[in-house]
Amino acid sequence: MTLTKNIITQKREIKNKLDVNIKKRIAKIKCFLFDMDGTVYLGSRLLPGAAETLAALKAGGRKYCFLTNNSSRDPAYYRNKLRKMGIETKSADIIISSHSLLDYLSGQPGRRLFVLGVGALKSLLRKGGHTVVSEGGRAVDYVVVGFDTGLNYKNLVIACQYVDGGAPYIATHPDVRCPLEDGRYIPDCGSLLALIKAATGKDCLITAGKPSRYMIAAALRRTGFKPEELAVVGDRLYTDIALGCAAGIFSILLLSGETTVKDLENSAWQPDLILNGIGDMLDFLRA
Ligand SMILES: [Mg+2]
Repeated sequence: MTLTKNIITQKREIKNKLDVNIKKRIAKIKCFLFDMDGTVYLGSRLLPGAAETLAALKAGGRKYCFLTNNSSRDPAYYRNKLRKMGIETKSADIIISSHSLLDYLSGQPGRRLFVLGVGALKSLLRKGGHTVVSEGGRAVDYVVVGFDTGLNYKNLVIACQYVDGGAPYIATHPDVRCPLEDGRYIPDCGSLLALIKAATGKDCLITAGKPSRYMIAAALRRTGFKPEELAVVGDRLYTDIALGCAAGIFSILLLSGETTVKDLENSAWQPDLILNGIGDMLDFLRA
């Protein structure tokens, strides 16, 4: 163990120990907002204690939801994925950055959109009353950028032409990389935003997913709880913990995913509680 890691671990232990009210604070939480990858599971493997923790929450009459920035999937995909791992959940309890982007557009009915994204994102936007334009040279209100895993160059050109012509571009989420199970990654939505910015010289108007206020609003609206009744649980400082910090929501960082103690030391976003993994939450859930 390095000296830095030692210091951080000691600080963490002191912080957790000193904060005698932390259990009381957690006792007041009515709904937990869980990130998924790196928090509940890693790839296709459920993390130790995940099933027990979620069962304990349920048994205690508390709610939980899942929050993800991955706009290349729909709630049914995650519901099935969790079910295969033995976790039963409802589609309504899975909040995706696409929902948050749709909420952003809710005050502007019937927008005309050119979308760089998968079919699930397009169909959600259509169901929300918007028109998805599929070619260039039309009038559009926005270019929407999602995690377009079927991206083709022609559509990228059209998107840049619309932005160049004055249409603002909005995005589901800012993540630059999507991590893979084997430690590698694939370029995510944020990488597309960097390309559009480089080509057009124009900035993205809003990103809707974690940690933006639009994702917070989506979580508050869909759960019906107040910020003080919620906790966010995740493995990333700049999305999960940043969301908690921005909204005054109690945040729990799990060291089971992306974040290292070194990252934590240098971060502007500091969680209210740091645990090694989801299973450690059980200690704080018992009366
Ligand atoms: Mg994660």
